[in-house]
Amino acid sequence: MVKRELGVKINDTLHEINLGNVKAFLIISEKGLILVDTGLPNSEKKIIAYINSIGKSVSDIKYILLTHSHMDHFGSAYALQKMSNAHIGINEKGIPYIDGSKGLLIPVSNSKSFKNKLFVRVLPLISKLMKPKYIKADMKLKEGAFPKEMGVDAKIIETPGHTKDSISIYLRDSKTVIVGDLLKGTDKRLESPPFFEDYVSLINSINKIKELKPDLICVSHGKDHNVDDIFV
Ligand SMILES: [Zn+2]
Repeated sequence: MVKRELGVKINDTLHEINLGNVKAFLIISEKGLILVDTGLPNSEKKIIAYINSIGKSVSDIKYILLTHSHMDHFGSAYALQKMSNAHIGINEKGIPYIDGSKGLLIPVSNSKSFKNKLFVRVLPLISKLMKPKYIKADMKLKEGAFPKEMGVDAKIIETPGHTKDSISIYLRDSKTVIVGDLLKGTDKRLESPPFFEDYVSLINSINKIKELKPDLICVSHGKDHNVDDIFV
């Protein structure tokens, strides 16, 4: 069996960490590391192994930003925050789903495929079995530039559709944008995700990303592509 890479360097500012079916991203800032998403519960070991492989340590993580509140994105935030003492940021609408006050946010399937429908039916049970640890956010991510103290020229773009709380992160220097689950990567192109709450918002958000004319679009599931590879 070929061993999958722990992760890959995209450019000087951005790395991608493979966590099986989902990815996390690591932004290298002047002030330390900014981790974007944390995978399912128990992904912390893989994330730390990758961070160590590039000569950094878990205590270098200063911020953990979540693209949205699905469990495969915030699942290991609790464990990593405990080890790093990092700030936790998410869009305001996602707070009640990561702090436990509204329970878990279950993905909404708009696909007619039997597989997706079945997946959504069993998801609440699977999620419970995974025992996610809820976490308090101390930063509300909304449209606009990163605060100066974060040490990187980037901005938050509100991109609802997959969920109401979905955000993207645009790194201006490299013209790279992390879109989370706004798009799904296949080997050949970027498509709409199998799960989304509102199609009109999804399309508006995808158009917002297109207008940036980014050089690279990084997705949480599947392969990254450039903006010309969007087929939605
Ligand atoms: Zn999601």
